[in-house]
Amino acid sequence: MTAQKNMEDIVSVAKRRGFIYPGSDVYGGLSGTWDYGPLGVALKRNIMQLWWAMFVDERDDMFGVDAAILMNQKVWQASGHVDTFVDPLVEDLETKQRFRADHLLKDAGFEVDGLSLEQLTALIRDNNVKSPAGNTLSEVRTFNMMFTTTVGPVANDAAISYLRPETAQGIFTNYKNVVDTFYPDLPFGLAQQGKAFRNEISPRDFIFRSREFEQMEIEYFVDPAKWEGSFEHWRQQVWKWTRALGLSDDTVHELEVPEEDRAHYSKRTIDFEYDFPIGREELLGLAYRTDFDLGNIQRVSGKNMEYTVKGTNEKFVPHVIEPSFGVERALMAVLTAAYTEDEVNGEKRIVMKFPEHLAPVKFAVSPLVRNKPELVAKAREVYDLLKKKYGAVMWDDNGNIGKRYRRQDEIGTPHCVVVDFDTLETDGLVSVRDRDTTEQRRVKPEEL
Ligand code: ATP
Repeated sequence: MTAQKNMEDIVSVAKRRGFIYPGSDVYGGLSGTWDYGPLGVALKRNIMQLWWAMFVDERDDMFGVDAAILMNQKVWQASGHVDTFVDPLVEDLETKQRFRADHLLKDAGFEVDGLSLEQLTALIRDNNVKSPAGNTLSEVRTFNMMFTTTVGPVANDAAISYLRPETAQGIFTNYKNVVDTFYPDLPFGLAQQGKAFRNEISPRDFIFRSREFEQMEIEYFVDPAKWEGSFEHWRQQVWKWTRALGLSDDTVHELEVPEEDRAHYSKRTIDFEYDFPIGREELLGLAYRTDFDLGNIQRVSGKNMEYTVKGTNEKFVPHVIEPSFGVERALMAVLTAAYTEDEVNGEKRIVMKFPEHLAPVKFAVSPLVRNKPELVAKAREVYDLLKKKYGAVMWDDNGNIGKRYRRQDEIGTPHCVVVDFDTLETDGLVSVRDRDTTEQRRVKPEEL
């Protein structure tokens, strides 16, 4: 269980130790944006690379793509985002502050799933629900979450474009390109990682709901008659993923989304939820999107999206299974699972128990003391050796050894290597301390 872990403690370590800072902090910030520091970017890349290795490199049926963020406005008209990518918005009539109506009502203890704008408005009115400042609220209306921009020097309607609110459409628009250049057998998938932007009405809960975030999405194209087998396959793959992140099975939950709450094009959706410190919330989604997207492209572009089964004349528009992963939510889950408070020699310590393959720093290397040149030289030698082998290795000679261990525990370094006088004078062995057990062993540097 992770419910007892406190969000503020995790945010505090993340900031104090250089994982994640509020965006534009020196200028007072920009709500819903976050900047990754040296350890945060390392952790984030490890997560993204793990995903790419698992779902692209290690498979025969997957292809990677990397589409432009700015796309032709027709993409978002055809996909339905221009008309329907909206959240319910309500305004504090005094302060003019705006909120997500469904979130306000949920926080006040009401069930809101599947309710229309009118029903949300009625709930607020009939129950006299107020804004967080205690003021009267407006009627509920819709708010489109896409960031609009214009492309080129003339700002007219034809120049309108959007910062993509999902990476999926950049995959669908390249389906035909990949089919025509690689002739893959069905089923096959396209994978993409990259930024997505949503003008969330009220970004909150650290990186959980940001305005700029990163997605890792797969569109897996299947024979419509065989979608169920592929859906089940991806369901199992999602579990493989959550385990690889180091999330224990009892903290991850499948929510079979009932028909009335599903997007209209989806015939089946499972939300995978995680026990975040803020509660059980969506980590990622798995949806059967039928031929909705390729069908839309075909209709609006006039280009044929049919797939011809090799060696036959059988043609159809493939159906799609979409596992959609959010990087920030994966990262927040990894931070949550890793955050541990325990006691070492009667002293409280904070330790981030990242799985070794995700840890931003694999080894920290120190000389026992920093004022003995021969110790420092030997430690440098060990550092260079490990740096060449593993890359993610940190030199740490600040403060005394106890302080160094505490610092390395807080950033989740699995192994601390110390070069001491015995290394020089007797056996040439270095001491290696294990982050989780704090036990120390003496080993040859080459065996690390
Ligand atoms: P929510 O209901 O929490 O707003 P969603 O159902 O709109 O999420 P999808 O459109 O299914 O989310 O997006 C796929 C994934 O992208 C989500 O499972 C999540 O991991 C991530 N994601 C979506 N919105 C955000 C956001 N504002 N900040 C961070 N990650 C996000």
